[in-house]
Amino acid sequence: MGILVKKNDKVKILTGKDKGKTGKVLLVDKKNTRLVIEGLNMVKKMQRPSQQNQKGGIIDIESPVNISNVKVVCPKCDEAVRIRKKQLEDGKRVRACGKCGEIMDKV
Ligand SMILES: [Zn+2]
Repeated sequence: MGILVKKNDKVKILTGKDKGKTGKVLLVDKKNTRLVIEGLNMVKKMQRPSQQNQKGGIIDIESPVNISNVKVVCPKCDEAVRIRKKQLEDGKRVRACGKCGEIMDKV
């Protein structure tokens, strides 16, 4: 299937408590199975007291989302769309919007 979601993509979450919300991808894990989206799928986490943070306490952090639970939002359609691969004349493979054909990778 290849890498269909990349860092800095705008994606929409399809399931869970943040269903329907969109955000920017901050991180894609090495196996490309999970990703972290800015401000989405937040969870509370206990932080132990440390030298930087004397008291410790509960902080909100982004929890990774399974890649199959998101769709990339096309910058042109402004909708969650299916990605298709496109080969350019010079042989480069890029991702394109399955709806309008907009190329999503900078080339
Ligand atoms: Zn599009």
